[in-house]
Amino acid sequence: MYYVSTRDRLGKTTVSGAIAYGLAPDGGLYTPEAVPSLAGNALNTLKDMTYQQRAVYVMNMFLDGYSASELSGFCAKAYGGGKFDDPAVAPVRTLDDRTHVLELWHGPTCAFKDMALQMLPHLLTSALKKEGETKTACILVATSGDTGKGALEGFKDVPGTRILVFYPKDGVSEVQQLQMTTQEGSNVGVCSVVGNFDDAQTGVKTIFSDPALRSELAERGAFLSSANSINWGRVLPQIVYYVSAYCDLLKSGALEKGDKLNVCVPTGNFGNILAAYYAKQMGVPIGRLICASNRNNVLTEFIETGVYDKNRTFYNTTSPSMDILISSNLERLLHACTYGDAEQVKGYMEKLARTGKYEVEESVKHRIGRDFSAACCDDEKAKAAIGRLWREKRYLIDPHTAVAVDALEQYRSKTGDETPTLVVSTASPFKFCPAVMEGLGEKEPPQGLKGIERLSQLTGIPAPAPLAGLAGKEIRFTGVTEKENMPQIVREMLN
Ligand SMILES: *Cc1c(COP(=O)(O)O)cnc(C)c1O
Repeated sequence: MYYVSTRDRLGKTTVSGAIAYGLAPDGGLYTPEAVPSLAGNALNTLKDMTYQQRAVYVMNMFLDGYSASELSGFCAKAYGGGKFDDPAVAPVRTLDDRTHVLELWHGPTCAFKDMALQMLPHLLTSALKKEGETKTACILVATSGDTGKGALEGFKDVPGTRILVFYPKDGVSEVQQLQMTTQEGSNVGVCSVVGNFDDAQTGVKTIFSDPALRSELAERGAFLSSANSINWGRVLPQIVYYVSAYCDLLKSGALEKGDKLNVCVPTGNFGNILAAYYAKQMGVPIGRLICASNRNNVLTEFIETGVYDKNRTFYNTTSPSMDILISSNLERLLHACTYGDAEQVKGYMEKLARTGKYEVEESVKHRIGRDFSAACCDDEKAKAAIGRLWREKRYLIDPHTAVAVDALEQYRSKTGDETPTLVVSTASPFKFCPAVMEGLGEKEPPQGLKGIERLSQLTGIPAPAPLAGLAGKEIRFTGVTEKENMPQIVREMLN
């Protein structure tokens, strides 16, 4: 099976090429030429397997040139060894007979990024080997919070890699900063940048396009790489948990063979919900894909009208990982809904770059509408959803998941669709304590580590160990740099 660029029909590569190089030379995203189909009895077979075994089975269908035993090794390292605090890895909780929650935050950083970032380093290092690359991969990340910590935990002590994370000095929460500055591992580096997220991001982009630095690194046996969410190696591990969730619901008897399951996903860069779309294409009986957005509702508008317009106010919300105006992975859906018409997709992306806006044809909009619905809500409604679910079900959710819960309620009352639905829960509530406590009715909730303690007292739920344990951890990284000096930090790291 080959992978094609969304912007060039002829730009084909193998899966190891797609993962090793991330982005196609024309700027497009590598996408499988055809999505493989699950055999008729596959879900029934997978039902009795562990999460790791399901992951081997599903990923193997997309990974030519990888053996099942190689993938078993990756899955053991990514999802085994006590890295996830639930033996099911991605457990499904049932709230009522038509509402189930897929918890994707049982990994080392308590957010769903772990599902892919625990696997990516293994896929990436093996892809580099298969492509004949022998140098050390130096992963650079600019982060506004969750991705940086996820990438640090994924790449820590992975042979053949170094990882360096830059975060804005005053742009992350106290807990997020502690998560990063206490990072363990012998190949990791963390540095704060004076300025905001854009400064950190621009600094990293400048480093990537600095030929002198690149050749200096090459001489020292290293090259720059990224852990960006447009890499196929981050999308693929996410398909697994949709297949797995369906199997769990078959096993528990909540669904019977062939029953439809809707999926509702809190969405930012469109990676997570895209994985659900691929699972549906593979043959998992998924019904509607409900795309939930916060006040930055560019995707809601696009799915409803066919117009993508990023020329709008940017809002900082209580669900910061969804504060995004350019959803990069949407390009892969456009590829599918134009039947792989690279010229058309390229046209949209050029318009987006030039004017911040594009409109798809009626036929494309119609194809998107066959699978997708959309809804959005603001912080107040998300907080209300947190309070409601806690009072009515004693079930605690974070503000990102709350956006999905509210979107699902809107969808149900608008359409009357009673199909059982899987709500995707993307972060532990203990990662966003102040907003969660406001949802529970606390007037002035404490921030930082005190917030974690207080939320635990209020609910009687113990905080996840990686967050509770932050209090006793040694701070390893205190560096601060000006944006201009970031290349020097990269050099020092390799000394
Ligand atoms: C990254 C993230 C999202 C958004 O996921 P996308 O794949 O970018 O759509 C939602 N919730 C949380 C907690 C996240 O970290």
